[in-house]
Amino acid sequence: MRLILLGPPGAGKGTQAARLVERHGIVQLSTGDMLRAAVRDKTPVGLKAQDIMARGELVPDLVVGEIVADRIEAADCARGFILDGFPRTVAQAEILKDLMARKGLTLDVVIELVVDESALLGRIEKRARESGAAVRADDTPEALKKRLEVYRAQTAPVSEYYRAAGLLQTVDGMLNVDEVTERIEAAIKASVA
Ligand code: ADP
Repeated sequence: MRLILLGPPGAGKGTQAARLVERHGIVQLSTGDMLRAAVRDKTPVGLKAQDIMARGELVPDLVVGEIVADRIEAADCARGFILDGFPRTVAQAEILKDLMARKGLTLDVVIELVVDESALLGRIEKRARESGAAVRADDTPEALKKRLEVYRAQTAPVSEYYRAAGLLQTVDGMLNVDEVTERIEAAIKASVA
């Protein structure tokens, strides 16, 4: 099974992805996590991405595309994967389409977590407080504002792209965590026949 989780920062993608990993034996591919690891390890990609990420802006499409291309070829992806945080632009969606076509892979479903924007700020502030010393460089009010702007301008069109392709399922991300999981499972069942 290969699926994409879409949703703004704080929508709960990471939480739900972890549950899908456990239930379906597939891997979670989070471009945010991969980029943070690259920053931590000071790789060439990390050095390039560090300041962009701290500002809440997007790393260039081709850079992210290459990271994903390398990753989906790994043996642990054979049973499938959940993309979390990618694609974030329509150009990335096109890159993914070409990449998967070349590898003979198909996408089963795209699930968008729909959340009230007013709730997001509070969720992320809570995450920043609870993570203490491990607080993310981009969980500051300014970077967060930027991340939401970028989401509206660049990532919201990705939902429309997949709606047009007949792959989009929306799930109410304001429900409690278990209910969201249940609805995601129902959306998957409806799509992966
Ligand atoms: P969020 O909680 O905002 O969804 P992520 O952990 O997915 O955060 O991503 C954090 C940052 O990493 C983004 O703000 C961006 O700078 C960078 N990033 C992650 N994925 C991508 C992507 N697909 N394209 C460009 N930049 C990305």
